[in-house]
Amino acid sequence: HRDLHSFPTRRSSDLVLGSGQFGNVHYGTMAETGQPVAVKTLKSDCQARTYIKSLLIEIKILSYVGPHDHIVKLIGANTSRLAQGQVSLYVEYLQLGDLENYLRGMRDNFVDCTSAEAKTGSKNTSKYLQFNDLNPDSQIRTCNLFLWSVQVAAAMEFLGSKKIIHGDLATRNILLLNKTCAKITDFGLAKQLYAYDTNYIKSAKNTPVPWRSMAIESLREMCFSPESDIWSFGVTLWEIFTLGDLPYTAGVQFSMDFVEQLQEIGRAHV
Ligand code: AMP
Repeated sequence: HRDLHSFPTRRSSDLVLGSGQFGNVHYGTMAETGQPVAVKTLKSDCQARTYIKSLLIEIKILSYVGPHDHIVKLIGANTSRLAQGQVSLYVEYLQLGDLENYLRGMRDNFVDCTSAEAKTGSKNTSKYLQFNDLNPDSQIRTCNLFLWSVQVAAAMEFLGSKKIIHGDLATRNILLLNKTCAKITDFGLAKQLYAYDTNYIKSAKNTPVPWRSMAIESLREMCFSPESDIWSFGVTLWEIFTLGDLPYTAGVQFSMDFVEQLQEIGRAHV
């Protein structure tokens, strides 16, 4: 990637890939090369320091981590107007978007290759299994789920070797380049373990938390470690193999009671 402080202007389109309370993700193309990119920016009225900080953390971590086949590629960033609260992050564009929405959209086109019906070709009854005459190109299969899981595990192992804690692993933060390539993204809650004699880090109490995929110690004490990332990886596997179900559905809200229940059971009771 180029100079991280002033990046050449892009030819952006108005296509919004995602929008949150404080930030947007737009589709664009690089002015010089025409390369498609996703551009992450803060909304113009964003004064929330936490969100400016999380975008800066994302830039810092992505530039430190370096390239990996299953981590979204940093193209560049623009921090020249940071004083005005304007920061942009440019990453490669992954055309199938996030895995959570992709899985939900493919539920009718999923072929469960582990079921007896799949082997015999007989009519199935599961709500997720539909054997139809669709072109196989429009289907996903169990092997896709395994492949994405292995790729995410490889990326997480790589992050671990660089002493990086992702802190927000979930299918909504995994992007698909195509049906055989998944990449981890969204490093806004990532943490770098500078001191190698300690293996965990505490986040500030006011940091926004993705509680559905957080480990017990993270929920209780905002304590993050490679082990808490492994908990989130477990929840992510559950999301993948349920084709994008939401963990702890049925009206569960975040509360201290929920955390205590989790502590009692000692595992995610999804
Ligand atoms: P985020 O705010 O980073 O979670 O992004 C919001 C949404 O924008 C995601 O859920 C994706 O659907 C989409 N998106 C983010 N980054 C990319 C990318 N690099 N390529 C394609 N779509 C993206």
